Amino acid sequence: MGRSGQAAAEWLFAQKAEVTVFDESKSTVVKDLARRWEARGVRAVTGAVQLPDARFERAILSPGIDPKRPVVLQLRSARVPMFGELELGARACLCPILAVTGTNGKSTTTELIAAVFQVAGKKAVACGNLGQPLCEVAPVSGGLDYAVAEVSSFQLEAIETFRPRVAVYLNLTPDHLDRYAGLEEYAAAKNRIFENQTTEDVAVVQKGLVLPERRSRTVTFSATENSADYTLRDGWLCAGADRVIRQEETRLRGPHNAENLLAALAVADAEGISRDAVRKAFTAYRPLPHRCELVAVRAGVTWINDSKATNPDAMERAVLGMSAPVILIAGGKDKGFDFAPSLPSLRGRVRAALLIGETAEKIEKAWRDGVPCRRMGTLAEAVKKAAVLANPGETVLLSPGCSSYDQFRNFEERGETYRQCVKTLPQEETKP
Ligand code: ADP
Repeated sequence: MGRSGQAAAEWLFAQKAEVTVFDESKSTVVKDLARRWEARGVRAVTGAVQLPDARFERAILSPGIDPKRPVVLQLRSARVPMFGELELGARACLCPILAVTGTNGKSTTTELIAAVFQVAGKKAVACGNLGQPLCEVAPVSGGLDYAVAEVSSFQLEAIETFRPRVAVYLNLTPDHLDRYAGLEEYAAAKNRIFENQTTEDVAVVQKGLVLPERRSRTVTFSATENSADYTLRDGWLCAGADRVIRQEETRLRGPHNAENLLAALAVADAEGISRDAVRKAFTAYRPLPHRCELVAVRAGVTWINDSKATNPDAMERAVLGMSAPVILIAGGKDKGFDFAPSLPSLRGRVRAALLIGETAEKIEKAWRDGVPCRRMGTLAEAVKKAAVLANPGETVLLSPGCSSYDQFRNFEERGETYRQCVKTLPQEETKP
């Protein structure tokens, strides 16, 4: 009964299907939702791990549901055909879908693509894992030129016929190892983005990624490999030999963001969007909150909120993108990461790491030989400590490298808490 589950149920209800909604949660929010469904004549089962019976024509899985949950096993053993909300939305969608996956940069790239197409006069919406689920967009898709969908591995693992006209694959680094048996299983889910593409479709992929055979035409991008079709050269975002725009003219910093921009440019080219529209959209684009967002400069110390960094690679990119010595606030829910491989990116850049949440001890052990670490209880305590430690000219960076669910509702709440803590710091706690 999360956002996409609600959207799927609404769509099916509108099709006059006989719907049962299910959620394991016993929370009052879920109970309230259940009551509202029941008032509309829909059966709602909540606070249980299985359904009372499993006689269904079809089951729709929300991305948050681990396929190993008892209810999924129950439905599987009753041979109920199953697919995900993305598949349901895509089947109902009347306009072409441009899809974006990858471990990091999905939201930024999805928004960039939608912005470029909108500037070019196309009716395009950013959706999927970002904002509106595809099932919510599908009913209005007849009036759209494009649905630009951010798609996660959790969504892709439950598709059947999903076929994006352009599929973007940004990168692959460890994430969600609490749900997948290993990187290979995670990669296999993501690789399904190409599964139903044909020779008429396009794959936009990071140069060097090892991917399965595809029928679609492939174009590559890279901020570091000159042999890619779309590259970063002397600060210019280039399409082949053409210099399209300097990255400096955008508000997006760092090689990782150059790749997000290059991928969006490649999608625009694949659909025949003018370079003028690309340039206009890229210069106007404002980064989303919680992605290396400037919170404050106080007493010469810069405070940055990168709460959306929920895996080690995103955290490393953030640190590598900072010019000043960094006081890093990291840690959160344990998703099964090994933090030791991050050490080379942090050594010499991170002057101190303040560690919070479930993973604090694990990170301290992993970084012992390269970064001075201190374990802090809460984010508020970490902010206070950072204010005492940071010298003028240095940066305090919240880039947790972990998800937030051990201490917060989501990454937004974590970022807002950081912002509030920084705002309310007494002046005397910062060095003059
Ligand atoms: P996603 O939707 O995949 O989580 P976002 O665009 O919201 O991606 O960015 C999430 C985090 O990843 C941010 O901390 C950001 O700094 C970092 N990031 C953004 N783009 C990339 C990229 N191409 N490669 C690595 N890290 C990235």
